[in-house]
Amino acid sequence: MSNKILVIGETREGSLRNVTFEAIAAAKKIKSDGEIVGVLCGDENLENQAQEMIYYGADRVIAVSHEKLKTYTSEGYGQAILAVINDESPDGIVMGHTSIGKDLTPKLASKLNTGLVSDAVEIEKVAEKVQFTRPIYSGKAFEKKIITSGITFVTIRPNNIPMLERDESRSGDISTKNVDVADIRTIIKEVIRKASEGVDLSEANVIIAGGRGVKSDEGFKPLYELAEVLGGAVGASRGACDAEYCDYSLQIGQTGKVVTPDLYIAVGISGAIQHLAGMSNSKVIVAINKDPEANIFNVADYGIVGDLFEIIPLLIEEIKKI
Ligand code: FAD
Repeated sequence: MSNKILVIGETREGSLRNVTFEAIAAAKKIKSDGEIVGVLCGDENLENQAQEMIYYGADRVIAVSHEKLKTYTSEGYGQAILAVINDESPDGIVMGHTSIGKDLTPKLASKLNTGLVSDAVEIEKVAEKVQFTRPIYSGKAFEKKIITSGITFVTIRPNNIPMLERDESRSGDISTKNVDVADIRTIIKEVIRKASEGVDLSEANVIIAGGRGVKSDEGFKPLYELAEVLGGAVGASRGACDAEYCDYSLQIGQTGKVVTPDLYIAVGISGAIQHLAGMSNSKVIVAINKDPEANIFNVADYGIVGDLFEIIPLLIEEIKKI
């Protein structure tokens, strides 16, 4: 037993994603007396991000820099992180259940010949064992898992495990590891981001999601305005994406993003089971729909029955007064 947990950090456009800090907090829950070792991959300049990981609770950070790691590929990152895992022999590995986490961790688990608990939303100690809670059947039920042998390998759903407080007085070693990354068969030539600027949907604390009831891309404008006054992000149902009112990168649900914000406002969304799969674990759900029988009201904490085109401007006006 090495008594250490590896936390795989994730960056986007030079900044660490919040789920990295949540993963550090998760690692502490798994092994409160263990060493938390962060690992970061990139082509260069990982110092600042490594330092941030230490401020948020990592004891030391290993940065793997290589020109082939500039953009994520499962081949490149897989090789680099596997080399770190082989050096460190951690008891556990934690990463965010993000698009990258979902792609990378099963591959690593299979290389390590170990299991993987994916999409954990809660971690607790039960009779001296670490128990993970994860949603199943599109969020309709939860299962609890205990790992009895091998590496404790887990991905955590963003926005569920609170990060530790940032502490600038913390210090820790930041080391660089040179890895000989073999040829990567996939070459990423360009990354074109379709999502709008601003708050990242999967990490947003407030989401205003529009459905087919919004009726047009023009109809989405008041939703963006509401998101701005609330400091949130705009999401959508597949109905709205299929109707070309917005881009598919905004889709929330079974085949879209899974989100758990503090506040989810569903606007003109009927509440199909596939949509609920992506948002029903939000902390507070507000539904705005002109149909009082709409299924979305069955999961909503607060419901407003009425025309969204009248209600949203009123909400914006009132919130601006606060
Ligand atoms: P609708 O069902 O058409 O609902 C529109 C709502 O707007 C209605 O309730 C209506 O009363 C209300 N409304 C209309 N006008 C107004 C107004 N002026 N004011 C207020 N309310 C108004 N869907 C997802 O969202 N995400 C997924 O990931 C997803 N994955 C899927 C995967 C599969 C395999 C399949 C088969 C389906 C999937 N779907 C998904 C589609 C899903 O089944 C629904 O078709 C979709 O969610 C419906 O979108 P909607 O609620 O916006 O549209």
